[in-house]
Amino acid sequence: MLKVHNVTFQYDTKVVLNNISLELHPGEHLSIIGESGSGKSTLLKIIYGLHHVEKGKLFWGKKRLLGPNYNLVPGEDFIKYLAQDYDLMPYITVEENVGKYLSNFYPRKKQKRIAELLNLVGLTAYAKTKPTDLSGGQQQRVAIAKALAQQPKLLLLDEPFSNIDNFKKNSLRRELFSYLKSQRISCITATHDNMDSLAYADKTMVLREGKIICFDDPKRLYKNPKNKYVASLFGEVNEILEKHIVPYSSSNKKIVCYPHQLQQSKTGYLVVKVKNSYFQGSHYLIESVLHSKTVFFNHHEAIQEGQQVSLKANFNA
Ligand code: ADP
Ligand code: MG
Repeated sequence: MLKVHNVTFQYDTKVVLNNISLELHPGEHLSIIGESGSGKSTLLKIIYGLHHVEKGKLFWGKKRLLGPNYNLVPGEDFIKYLAQDYDLMPYITVEENVGKYLSNFYPRKKQKRIAELLNLVGLTAYAKTKPTDLSGGQQQRVAIAKALAQQPKLLLLDEPFSNIDNFKKNSLRRELFSYLKSQRISCITATHDNMDSLAYADKTMVLREGKIICFDDPKRLYKNPKNKYVASLFGEVNEILEKHIVPYSSSNKKIVCYPHQLQQSKTGYLVVKVKNSYFQGSHYLIESVLHSKTVFFNHHEAIQEGQQVSLKANFNA
């Protein structure tokens, strides 16, 4: 089990992480979300043991993780860290890369393991190819297979699917996370992508300027976002004054709501002027204006620019 206890970290004089604590059990999956520069990658590097921590402690079970000043080779061997730049050897084949750290003592076992991993990431056909001949997304998949080869206890993934096209991403993500669950490998994913959090994480940490601002079940975070920052990590979001949306209210309290929670309705109270309609596949995202502020709502068809629409909020949607 991983335990991070009150870690504060700075590069030179700038504090980048402020009093971070977390616990992660075997097989659990944590996602870390937050805008760029909020400290996600730094936290993963600290857990892996690449940065020396002066304030705070890290433990794996009862064992203290001491970091780079106490390890000859930085990085704990039961942890694998998949960085944003995936460090592959360009002139050896994909299968050699994946098997790089596997023992040659049992060649048949090694071959079987490599085949299993290439199948998991959907690259069986590329076993004999060199990384230089692969796309960025394919290289990222090789890096994932390589990180899993030695069966780590904890996998740290930094924006792991950022270069993988949607077509492959969804199936890879499903298969990878169910593989991790089946093997009870704990996982921490730093991500921009709300799907990683909503569908695959047991818990989600929201970072802002190096501080934890929420730490909860991702479904609860989504349903009851603490503020606009948290909600906006899950997609477009509106902030509307209560008096503009709740009948008979005169409160200036700001209410955060998602586009799907606003619907056109004859009895709607909020009257907006349409600016743009964006096709989203299953619906349109309508961009509209209310007192010079942008309001997004969902609709089943496009709406003419300039048209006035009355909207009703349904916070249970
Ligand atoms: P994220 O992964 O959330 O985008 P990072 O952990 O990469 O955030 O960065 C957090 C902050 O630390 C940023 O302000 C960034 O500029 C700074 N930073 C990151 N790496 C270094 C470094 N090696 N030296 C100095 N500052 C750094
Ligand atoms: Mg980062």
